[in-house]
Amino acid sequence: MTTMSYISTRGGSAPMGFQQAVMTGLAEDGGLLVPCSLPDVRDRLEVWRSLAYPDLAYEVLRLFTDLPDADLRALVDRSYRVFRVPEVVPVVPVGKVHVVELFHGPTLAFKDIALQFLSNCFEYILERENGELNILGATSGDTGSAAIHGVRGRERIRIFIMHPKGRVSPLQERQMTSVLDDNVFNLAVEGTFDDCQSIMKSLFEDVPFKQTHSLGAINSVNWARVLAQIVYFFYAGLRVLEQTGASRVRFSVPTGNFGDILAGYYAARMGLPVGKLILATNENDILTRFFTTGVYAKGTVVPTISPSMDIQVASNFERYLFDRVGRNPEVLRAMMADFKISGRLSVPVGEGGEVDPLFFAGTGTTRDTLDTIRHTYRESGYLLDPHTAVGVSVASRCFRDDEPMLCLATAHPAKFNQAIEDALGEDLAHHPILDQLKEAETRCDCLPADVDAVRAYVQEHCTP
Ligand SMILES: *Cc1c(COP(=O)(O)O)cnc(C)c1O
Repeated sequence: MTTMSYISTRGGSAPMGFQQAVMTGLAEDGGLLVPCSLPDVRDRLEVWRSLAYPDLAYEVLRLFTDLPDADLRALVDRSYRVFRVPEVVPVVPVGKVHVVELFHGPTLAFKDIALQFLSNCFEYILERENGELNILGATSGDTGSAAIHGVRGRERIRIFIMHPKGRVSPLQERQMTSVLDDNVFNLAVEGTFDDCQSIMKSLFEDVPFKQTHSLGAINSVNWARVLAQIVYFFYAGLRVLEQTGASRVRFSVPTGNFGDILAGYYAARMGLPVGKLILATNENDILTRFFTTGVYAKGTVVPTISPSMDIQVASNFERYLFDRVGRNPEVLRAMMADFKISGRLSVPVGEGGEVDPLFFAGTGTTRDTLDTIRHTYRESGYLLDPHTAVGVSVASRCFRDDEPMLCLATAHPAKFNQAIEDALGEDLAHHPILDQLKEAETRCDCLPADVDAVRAYVQEHCTP
Protein backbone atom coordinates (compact mmCIF):
# COMPACT_ATOMS: atom_id res chain seq x y z
CA MET A 1 0.00 0.00 0.00
CA THR A 2 1.26 3.48 -0.85
CA THR A 3 0.11 7.01 -0.46
CA MET A 4 0.43 7.67 -4.19
CA SER A 5 -1.92 10.46 -5.09
CA TYR A 6 -3.49 11.32 -8.41
CA ILE A 7 -3.94 14.76 -9.96
CA SER A 8 -5.77 16.01 -13.02
CA THR A 9 -3.78 16.98 -16.12
CA ARG A 10 -5.86 20.16 -16.16
CA GLY A 11 -5.13 21.10 -12.56
CA GLY A 12 -8.75 21.37 -11.44
CA SER A 13 -9.11 18.58 -8.91
CA ALA A 14 -7.71 18.01 -5.42
CA PRO A 15 -5.18 15.15 -5.17
CA MET A 16 -6.93 11.82 -4.54
CA GLY A 17 -5.98 8.23 -3.77
CA PHE A 18 -6.13 5.26 -6.12
CA GLN A 19 -9.59 4.01 -5.14
CA GLN A 20 -11.14 7.40 -5.67
CA ALA A 21 -9.29 7.77 -8.98
CA VAL A 22 -10.75 4.46 -10.15
CA MET A 23 -14.29 5.51 -9.26
CA THR A 24 -13.79 8.96 -10.80
CA GLY A 25 -12.56 7.89 -14.25
CA LEU A 26 -12.42 11.19 -16.10
CA ALA A 27 -11.58 14.10 -13.78
CA GLU A 28 -14.34 16.66 -13.17
CA ASP A 29 -12.41 19.39 -14.98
CA GLY A 30 -12.35 17.22 -18.12
CA GLY A 31 -8.71 16.24 -17.57
CA LEU A 32 -7.16 12.80 -17.07
CA LEU A 33 -5.92 11.54 -13.72
CA VAL A 34 -2.18 10.87 -13.49
CA PRO A 35 0.06 9.82 -10.59
CA CYS A 36 1.72 12.87 -9.03
CA SER A 37 5.11 11.18 -9.51
CA LEU A 38 6.47 7.93 -10.92
CA PRO A 39 8.45 5.52 -8.74
CA ASP A 40 12.02 4.69 -9.83
CA VAL A 41 12.26 0.88 -9.80
CA ARG A 42 15.75 0.34 -11.25
CA ASP A 43 17.06 -1.25 -8.07
CA ARG A 44 14.23 -3.82 -8.08
CA LEU A 45 14.59 -5.11 -11.64
CA GLU A 46 17.06 -7.83 -10.63
CA VAL A 47 14.49 -9.36 -8.28
CA TRP A 48 11.55 -8.73 -10.61
CA ARG A 49 13.23 -10.73 -13.41
CA SER A 50 12.35 -14.05 -11.88
CA LEU A 51 8.77 -13.35 -10.79
CA ALA A 52 5.71 -15.07 -12.21
CA TYR A 53 3.12 -12.76 -13.79
CA PRO A 54 0.74 -12.40 -10.82
CA ASP A 55 3.67 -11.89 -8.41
CA LEU A 56 5.14 -9.17 -10.61
CA ALA A 57 1.71 -7.59 -11.10
CA TYR A 58 1.35 -7.40 -7.34
CA GLU A 59 4.76 -5.73 -6.92
CA VAL A 60 4.11 -3.15 -9.66
CA LEU A 61 0.52 -2.37 -8.67
CA ARG A 62 1.28 -1.90 -5.00
CA LEU A 63 3.48 1.08 -5.87
CA PHE A 64 0.39 2.85 -7.18
CA THR A 65 -2.53 1.68 -5.07
CA ASP A 66 -4.01 2.37 -1.66
CA LEU A 67 -5.36 -1.13 -1.09
CA PRO A 68 -4.12 -3.18 1.87
CA ASP A 69 -1.45 -5.63 0.62
CA ALA A 70 -3.46 -8.79 1.25
CA ASP A 71 -6.51 -7.36 -0.50
CA LEU A 72 -4.47 -6.30 -3.52
CA ARG A 73 -2.88 -9.73 -3.66
CA ALA A 74 -6.30 -11.41 -3.71
CA LEU A 75 -7.56 -8.99 -6.33
CA VAL A 76 -4.58 -9.62 -8.61
CA ASP A 77 -4.90 -13.38 -8.25
CA ARG A 78 -8.58 -13.22 -9.08
CA SER A 79 -7.89 -11.11 -12.16
CA TYR A 80 -5.24 -13.35 -13.73
CA ARG A 81 -6.58 -16.77 -12.71
CA VAL A 82 -9.14 -16.48 -15.50
CA PHE A 83 -6.43 -16.48 -18.17
CA ARG A 84 -6.17 -19.71 -20.09
CA VAL A 85 -2.39 -20.18 -19.84
CA PRO A 86 -0.39 -20.29 -16.61
CA GLU A 87 2.17 -17.73 -17.86
CA VAL A 88 -0.75 -15.29 -18.42
CA VAL A 89 1.37 -13.44 -21.02
CA PRO A 90 3.63 -15.89 -22.92
CA VAL A 91 6.51 -14.45 -24.93
CA VAL A 92 7.08 -16.43 -28.13
CA PRO A 93 10.06 -16.10 -30.51
CA VAL A 94 8.82 -15.67 -34.10
CA GLY A 95 11.51 -15.00 -36.74
CA LYS A 96 13.40 -11.87 -35.69
CA VAL A 97 10.91 -10.72 -33.07
CA HIS A 98 9.52 -11.79 -29.73
CA VAL A 99 5.73 -11.86 -29.80
CA VAL A 100 4.13 -10.90 -26.49
CA GLU A 101 0.82 -12.77 -26.47
CA LEU A 102 -1.66 -10.57 -24.62
CA PHE A 103 -4.73 -12.43 -25.88
CA HIS A 104 -5.24 -15.34 -23.51
CA GLY A 105 -8.06 -13.75 -21.52
CA PRO A 106 -11.80 -14.44 -21.81
CA THR A 107 -12.42 -12.42 -25.00
CA LEU A 108 -9.10 -13.16 -26.73
CA ALA A 109 -7.99 -9.51 -26.81
CA PHE A 110 -5.46 -7.59 -24.75
CA LYS A 111 -8.17 -5.41 -23.21
CA ASP A 112 -9.02 -8.32 -20.89
CA ILE A 113 -5.80 -7.74 -18.95
CA ALA A 114 -6.93 -4.30 -17.84
CA LEU A 115 -10.69 -4.86 -17.70
CA GLN A 116 -10.45 -7.94 -15.48
CA PHE A 117 -8.40 -5.88 -13.03
CA LEU A 118 -10.67 -2.83 -13.29
CA SER A 119 -13.81 -4.93 -12.71
CA ASN A 120 -12.30 -6.50 -9.62
CA CYS A 121 -11.33 -3.02 -8.35
CA PHE A 122 -14.90 -1.81 -8.87
CA GLU A 123 -16.35 -4.78 -7.02
CA TYR A 124 -13.89 -4.40 -4.14
CA ILE A 125 -14.58 -0.70 -3.70
CA LEU A 126 -18.38 -1.08 -4.03
CA GLU A 127 -18.44 -3.80 -1.41
CA ARG A 128 -16.63 -1.62 1.08
CA GLU A 129 -18.80 1.39 0.35
CA ASN A 130 -21.94 -0.72 0.15
CA GLY A 131 -22.50 0.91 -3.24
CA GLU A 132 -23.80 -0.04 -6.64
CA LEU A 133 -22.70 0.86 -10.13
CA ASN A 134 -24.48 0.94 -13.45
CA ILE A 135 -21.95 0.95 -16.25
CA LEU A 136 -23.05 2.52 -19.48
CA GLY A 137 -20.87 2.19 -22.55
CA ALA A 138 -20.84 2.32 -26.32
CA THR A 139 -18.70 -0.04 -28.36
CA SER A 140 -17.69 -0.70 -31.92
CA GLY A 141 -16.46 -4.15 -30.91
CA ASP A 142 -13.59 -5.14 -28.62
CA THR A 143 -14.01 -2.91 -25.59
CA GLY A 144 -17.65 -3.81 -25.06
CA SER A 145 -17.06 -7.52 -24.95
CA ALA A 146 -14.00 -7.28 -22.67
CA ALA A 147 -16.01 -5.03 -20.32
CA ILE A 148 -19.01 -7.37 -20.31
CA HIS A 149 -16.82 -10.38 -19.58
CA GLY A 150 -15.09 -8.40 -16.83
CA VAL A 151 -18.26 -7.62 -14.87
CA ARG A 152 -20.60 -10.48 -15.72
CA GLY A 153 -22.24 -12.02 -12.69
CA ARG A 154 -21.02 -9.34 -10.25
CA GLU A 155 -23.61 -8.49 -7.65
CA ARG A 156 -23.26 -4.75 -7.30
CA ILE A 157 -22.69 -3.97 -10.95
CA ARG A 158 -24.97 -3.80 -13.94
CA ILE A 159 -23.64 -3.15 -17.41
CA PHE A 160 -25.46 -1.61 -20.37
CA ILE A 161 -23.49 -1.77 -23.61
CA MET A 162 -24.78 -0.15 -26.78
CA HIS A 163 -23.54 -1.31 -30.15
CA PRO A 164 -24.68 -0.10 -33.56
CA LYS A 165 -27.13 -2.73 -34.77
CA GLY A 166 -25.71 -4.84 -37.61
CA ARG A 167 -22.52 -2.78 -37.75
CA VAL A 168 -20.16 -4.75 -35.55
CA SER A 169 -18.65 -7.99 -36.82
CA PRO A 170 -20.97 -10.99 -36.28
CA LEU A 171 -18.30 -12.60 -34.12
CA GLN A 172 -17.90 -9.54 -31.92
CA GLU A 173 -21.66 -9.24 -31.61
CA ARG A 174 -21.92 -12.85 -30.46
CA GLN A 175 -19.11 -12.42 -27.96
CA MET A 176 -21.26 -9.79 -26.29
CA THR A 177 -24.79 -11.09 -26.73
CA SER A 178 -24.00 -14.66 -25.70
CA VAL A 179 -23.31 -13.49 -22.14
CA LEU A 180 -26.61 -14.27 -20.42
CA ASP A 181 -25.92 -13.15 -16.86
CA ASP A 182 -28.73 -11.11 -15.28
CA ASN A 183 -26.54 -8.04 -14.84
CA VAL A 184 -25.62 -7.76 -18.53
CA PHE A 185 -27.75 -5.73 -20.95
CA ASN A 186 -26.81 -5.66 -24.62
CA LEU A 187 -28.49 -2.90 -26.56
CA ALA A 188 -28.50 -2.99 -30.35
CA VAL A 189 -29.11 0.62 -31.32
CA GLU A 190 -30.62 1.36 -34.70
CA GLY A 191 -27.92 3.77 -35.78
CA THR A 192 -24.16 4.23 -36.07
CA PHE A 193 -21.39 3.99 -33.49
CA ASP A 194 -21.40 7.79 -33.35
CA ASP A 195 -25.11 7.72 -32.43
CA CYS A 196 -24.32 5.31 -29.60
CA GLN A 197 -21.53 7.55 -28.37
CA SER A 198 -23.63 10.67 -28.48
CA ILE A 199 -26.44 8.97 -26.54
CA MET A 200 -23.91 7.92 -23.94
CA LYS A 201 -22.51 11.43 -23.72
CA SER A 202 -25.96 12.99 -23.28
CA LEU A 203 -26.81 10.59 -20.47
CA PHE A 204 -23.53 11.29 -18.67
CA GLU A 205 -24.19 15.01 -19.00
CA ASP A 206 -27.62 14.58 -17.42
CA VAL A 207 -26.20 15.04 -13.91
CA PRO A 208 -29.35 14.21 -11.88
CA PHE A 209 -29.84 11.03 -13.93
CA LYS A 210 -26.19 10.13 -13.59
CA GLN A 211 -26.28 10.57 -9.82
CA THR A 212 -29.59 8.87 -9.13
CA HIS A 213 -28.54 5.84 -11.11
CA SER A 214 -24.85 5.71 -10.06
CA LEU A 215 -23.81 5.74 -13.67
CA GLY A 216 -20.22 4.73 -14.31
CA ALA A 217 -17.91 4.47 -17.30
CA ILE A 218 -15.41 1.79 -18.17
CA ASN A 219 -13.57 3.57 -20.93
CA SER A 220 -9.88 3.64 -21.62
CA VAL A 221 -9.13 6.83 -19.70
CA ASN A 222 -9.62 5.03 -16.38
CA TRP A 223 -6.24 5.02 -14.66
CA ALA A 224 -6.62 1.39 -13.54
CA ARG A 225 -6.57 0.32 -17.18
CA VAL A 226 -3.27 2.02 -17.95
CA LEU A 227 -1.80 0.79 -14.68
CA ALA A 228 -2.63 -2.87 -15.31
CA GLN A 229 -0.93 -2.60 -18.70
CA ILE A 230 2.37 -1.32 -17.27
CA VAL A 231 2.89 -4.78 -15.76
CA TYR A 232 3.35 -6.70 -19.00
CA PHE A 233 6.00 -4.32 -20.31
CA PHE A 234 8.09 -5.20 -17.27
CA TYR A 235 7.20 -8.88 -17.45
CA ALA A 236 8.01 -9.37 -21.14
CA GLY A 237 10.91 -6.92 -21.21
CA LEU A 238 12.70 -8.49 -18.24
CA ARG A 239 12.14 -11.98 -19.62
CA VAL A 240 13.73 -11.13 -22.97
CA LEU A 241 16.61 -9.22 -21.34
CA GLU A 242 17.33 -12.31 -19.25
CA GLN A 243 17.17 -14.68 -22.23
CA THR A 244 19.28 -12.61 -24.60
CA GLY A 245 21.71 -10.88 -22.27
CA ALA A 246 20.97 -7.60 -24.04
CA SER A 247 21.03 -4.38 -22.07
CA ARG A 248 17.97 -2.80 -23.67
CA VAL A 249 14.83 -3.87 -25.52
CA ARG A 250 12.45 -2.30 -28.03
CA PHE A 251 8.67 -2.62 -27.99
CA SER A 252 6.39 -2.34 -30.98
CA VAL A 253 2.83 -1.39 -30.04
CA PRO A 254 -0.19 -1.39 -32.39
CA THR A 255 -1.80 1.86 -31.35
CA GLY A 256 -5.28 3.39 -31.35
CA ASN A 257 -6.19 5.40 -28.26
CA PHE A 258 -2.59 5.56 -26.99
CA GLY A 259 -3.47 3.52 -23.88
CA ASP A 260 -1.23 0.53 -24.45
CA ILE A 261 1.84 2.48 -25.54
CA LEU A 262 1.35 5.00 -22.75
CA ALA A 263 1.82 2.13 -20.30
CA GLY A 264 5.12 1.33 -22.08
CA TYR A 265 6.17 4.95 -21.81
CA TYR A 266 5.52 4.89 -18.06
CA ALA A 267 7.44 1.60 -17.70
CA ALA A 268 10.42 3.22 -19.47
CA ARG A 269 10.20 6.28 -17.22
CA MET A 270 10.13 4.03 -14.16
CA GLY A 271 13.44 2.53 -15.24
CA LEU A 272 12.79 -0.42 -17.55
CA PRO A 273 15.64 -0.22 -20.10
CA VAL A 274 13.72 0.55 -23.29
CA GLY A 275 15.71 1.67 -26.33
CA LYS A 276 12.69 2.57 -28.45
CA LEU A 277 8.93 2.42 -28.33
CA ILE A 278 7.64 1.76 -31.82
CA LEU A 279 4.26 3.38 -32.27
CA ALA A 280 2.45 1.61 -35.10
CA THR A 281 -0.77 2.95 -36.59
CA ASN A 282 -2.91 1.88 -39.52
CA GLU A 283 -4.11 4.46 -42.07
CA ASN A 284 -5.69 6.35 -39.17
CA ASP A 285 -2.32 7.90 -38.48
CA ILE A 286 -2.86 11.00 -36.32
CA LEU A 287 -0.30 9.72 -33.79
CA THR A 288 2.30 8.79 -36.40
CA ARG A 289 1.98 12.27 -37.85
CA PHE A 290 2.44 13.73 -34.39
CA PHE A 291 5.56 11.74 -33.59
CA THR A 292 7.12 12.53 -36.96
CA THR A 293 6.20 16.24 -37.24
CA GLY A 294 5.20 17.51 -33.79
CA VAL A 295 1.74 18.44 -35.10
CA TYR A 296 -1.36 16.70 -33.79
CA ALA A 297 -4.16 17.34 -36.27
CA LYS A 298 -7.52 15.60 -36.52
CA GLY A 299 -8.42 13.80 -39.76
CA THR A 300 -11.41 11.66 -40.66
CA VAL A 301 -11.67 8.03 -39.64
CA VAL A 302 -11.28 5.45 -42.38
CA PRO A 303 -12.36 1.86 -41.79
CA THR A 304 -9.51 -0.70 -41.98
CA ILE A 305 -8.89 -4.39 -41.37
CA SER A 306 -7.52 -3.49 -37.91
CA PRO A 307 -10.75 -1.84 -36.69
CA SER A 308 -9.73 -1.45 -33.04
CA MET A 309 -7.17 1.11 -34.17
CA ASP A 310 -9.59 3.12 -36.30
CA ILE A 311 -9.60 6.31 -34.26
CA GLN A 312 -8.67 9.90 -34.86
CA VAL A 313 -8.49 11.52 -31.45
CA ALA A 314 -6.52 9.37 -29.01
CA SER A 315 -8.14 9.67 -25.59
CA ASN A 316 -5.01 8.84 -23.58
CA PHE A 317 -2.66 11.14 -25.44
CA GLU A 318 -3.33 13.98 -23.01
CA ARG A 319 -1.40 12.10 -20.32
CA TYR A 320 1.71 12.12 -22.52
CA LEU A 321 1.21 15.77 -23.50
CA PHE A 322 1.00 16.70 -19.83
CA ASP A 323 4.57 15.46 -19.31
CA ARG A 324 5.58 17.03 -22.57
CA VAL A 325 4.59 20.52 -21.39
CA GLY A 326 6.52 20.07 -18.15
CA ARG A 327 3.42 18.92 -16.22
CA ASN A 328 2.06 22.44 -16.36
CA PRO A 329 -1.76 22.28 -16.20
CA GLU A 330 -2.26 25.89 -17.36
CA VAL A 331 -0.29 25.31 -20.55
CA LEU A 332 -2.04 22.03 -21.18
CA ARG A 333 -5.49 23.50 -20.56
CA ALA A 334 -4.84 26.25 -23.09
CA MET A 335 -3.58 23.69 -25.64
CA MET A 336 -6.65 21.48 -25.22
CA ALA A 337 -9.04 24.42 -25.43
CA ASP A 338 -7.36 25.45 -28.65
CA PHE A 339 -7.49 21.91 -30.00
CA LYS A 340 -11.21 21.74 -29.30
CA ILE A 341 -11.75 24.70 -31.60
CA SER A 342 -9.11 24.20 -34.28
CA GLY A 343 -8.63 20.40 -34.23
CA ARG A 344 -4.88 21.01 -34.13
CA LEU A 345 -2.05 21.39 -31.63
CA SER A 346 1.73 21.22 -31.82
CA VAL A 347 4.86 20.88 -29.70
CA PRO A 348 8.35 22.21 -30.43
CA VAL A 349 10.63 19.66 -32.14
CA GLY A 350 14.34 19.04 -31.47
CA GLU A 351 17.20 20.17 -33.68
CA GLY A 352 17.22 17.17 -36.00
CA GLY A 353 13.45 17.49 -36.32
CA GLU A 354 12.99 14.78 -33.71
CA VAL A 355 9.79 14.94 -31.68
CA ASP A 356 10.76 12.46 -28.93
CA PRO A 357 13.87 10.26 -29.13
CA LEU A 358 12.13 7.45 -27.23
CA PHE A 359 9.53 6.98 -29.99
CA PHE A 360 9.75 5.70 -33.56
CA ALA A 361 6.40 6.02 -35.34
CA GLY A 362 5.15 4.52 -38.58
CA THR A 363 2.06 3.46 -40.47
CA GLY A 364 1.31 -0.07 -41.60
CA THR A 365 -1.11 0.13 -44.52
CA THR A 366 -3.65 -2.56 -45.34
CA ARG A 367 -1.19 -3.88 -47.89
CA ASP A 368 1.70 -3.94 -45.37
CA THR A 369 -0.59 -5.71 -42.91
CA LEU A 370 -1.62 -8.47 -45.32
CA ASP A 371 2.00 -8.89 -46.55
CA THR A 372 3.23 -9.19 -42.98
CA ILE A 373 0.60 -11.81 -42.11
CA ARG A 374 1.60 -13.76 -45.22
CA HIS A 375 5.39 -13.54 -44.72
CA THR A 376 5.23 -14.40 -41.07
CA TYR A 377 3.04 -17.41 -41.72
CA ARG A 378 5.20 -18.68 -44.58
CA GLU A 379 8.48 -18.19 -42.72
CA SER A 380 7.51 -19.15 -39.19
CA GLY A 381 4.11 -20.85 -39.38
CA TYR A 382 2.76 -18.25 -36.95
CA LEU A 383 -0.55 -16.44 -37.48
CA LEU A 384 -0.62 -12.74 -36.63
CA ASP A 385 -3.90 -10.93 -36.15
CA PRO A 386 -4.11 -7.77 -38.31
CA HIS A 387 -3.51 -5.36 -35.39
CA THR A 388 -0.39 -7.24 -34.33
CA ALA A 389 0.70 -7.38 -37.97
CA VAL A 390 0.62 -3.57 -38.18
CA GLY A 391 3.05 -3.54 -35.25
CA VAL A 392 5.33 -6.20 -36.74
CA SER A 393 5.37 -4.39 -40.08
CA VAL A 394 6.45 -1.06 -38.58
CA ALA A 395 8.92 -2.83 -36.24
CA SER A 396 10.72 -4.34 -39.25
CA ARG A 397 11.74 -0.81 -40.27
CA CYS A 398 13.82 -0.27 -37.17
CA PHE A 399 15.56 -3.44 -36.08
CA ARG A 400 18.81 -3.01 -34.21
CA ASP A 401 21.06 -5.98 -33.58
CA ASP A 402 21.80 -5.23 -29.95
CA GLU A 403 18.22 -4.42 -28.93
CA PRO A 404 15.76 -7.32 -29.15
CA MET A 405 12.35 -6.36 -30.58
CA LEU A 406 9.21 -7.28 -28.64
CA CYS A 407 5.97 -7.03 -30.59
CA LEU A 408 2.77 -6.81 -28.59
CA ALA A 409 0.10 -9.18 -29.92
CA THR A 410 -3.18 -7.50 -29.06
CA ALA A 411 -5.72 -10.01 -30.36
CA HIS A 412 -5.94 -13.69 -31.21
CA PRO A 413 -5.96 -14.14 -35.02
CA ALA A 414 -9.26 -16.03 -34.89
CA LYS A 415 -11.01 -12.82 -33.81
CA PHE A 416 -10.20 -11.32 -37.19
CA ASN A 417 -10.26 -14.43 -39.36
CA GLN A 418 -11.44 -12.54 -42.44
CA ALA A 419 -8.11 -10.67 -42.61
CA ILE A 420 -6.25 -13.96 -42.28
CA GLU A 421 -8.29 -15.41 -45.11
CA ASP A 422 -7.64 -12.30 -47.22
CA ALA A 423 -3.90 -12.64 -46.62
CA LEU A 424 -3.53 -16.40 -47.02
CA GLY A 425 -6.47 -17.41 -49.18
CA GLU A 426 -7.59 -19.87 -46.52
CA ASP A 427 -9.69 -19.59 -43.37
CA LEU A 428 -6.92 -20.79 -41.06
CA ALA A 429 -7.56 -18.89 -37.85
CA HIS A 430 -9.84 -20.63 -35.38
CA HIS A 431 -10.31 -20.85 -31.67
CA PRO A 432 -12.70 -23.26 -29.92
CA ILE A 433 -14.20 -20.45 -27.82
CA LEU A 434 -15.18 -18.54 -30.94
CA ASP A 435 -16.27 -21.61 -32.89
CA GLN A 436 -18.63 -22.57 -30.06
CA LEU A 437 -20.27 -19.17 -30.19
CA LYS A 438 -22.00 -20.03 -33.43
CA GLU A 439 -24.30 -22.30 -31.48
CA ALA A 440 -24.65 -20.18 -28.38
CA GLU A 441 -27.89 -18.73 -27.13
CA THR A 442 -27.91 -14.93 -27.31
CA ARG A 443 -29.82 -12.09 -25.69
CA CYS A 444 -30.08 -8.53 -26.87
CA ASP A 445 -32.65 -5.77 -26.86
CA CYS A 446 -33.14 -3.51 -29.80
CA LEU A 447 -33.72 0.23 -29.32
CA PRO A 448 -34.08 3.26 -31.59
CA ALA A 449 -31.16 5.72 -31.69
CA ASP A 450 -32.88 7.97 -29.21
CA VAL A 451 -31.63 9.27 -25.85
CA ASP A 452 -35.02 9.03 -24.18
CA ALA A 453 -35.49 5.43 -25.22
CA VAL A 454 -32.12 4.46 -23.77
CA ARG A 455 -32.73 6.53 -20.62
CA ALA A 456 -36.05 4.78 -20.07
CA TYR A 457 -34.47 1.39 -20.64
CA VAL A 458 -31.72 1.98 -18.10
CA GLN A 459 -34.24 3.35 -15.60
CA GLU A 460 -36.43 0.34 -15.95
CA HIS A 461 -33.61 -2.19 -15.58
CA CYS A 462 -31.68 -0.81 -12.66
CA THR A 463 -32.76 -0.35 -9.10
CA PRO A 464 -31.28 2.96 -7.96
C1 LIG B 1 -7.88 -1.55 -28.36
C2 LIG B 1 -7.00 -2.31 -29.27
C3 LIG B 1 -5.81 -1.75 -29.80
C4 LIG B 1 -5.38 -0.32 -29.52
O1 LIG B 1 -4.99 -0.11 -28.19
P1 LIG B 1 -4.91 1.38 -27.60
O2 LIG B 1 -4.65 1.22 -26.15
O3 LIG B 1 -6.25 2.01 -27.89
O4 LIG B 1 -3.79 2.09 -28.31
C5 LIG B 1 -5.01 -2.55 -30.61
N1 LIG B 1 -5.38 -3.80 -30.94
C6 LIG B 1 -6.51 -4.38 -30.45
C7 LIG B 1 -6.86 -5.76 -30.87
C8 LIG B 1 -7.36 -3.65 -29.61
O5 LIG B 1 -8.50 -4.22 -29.14
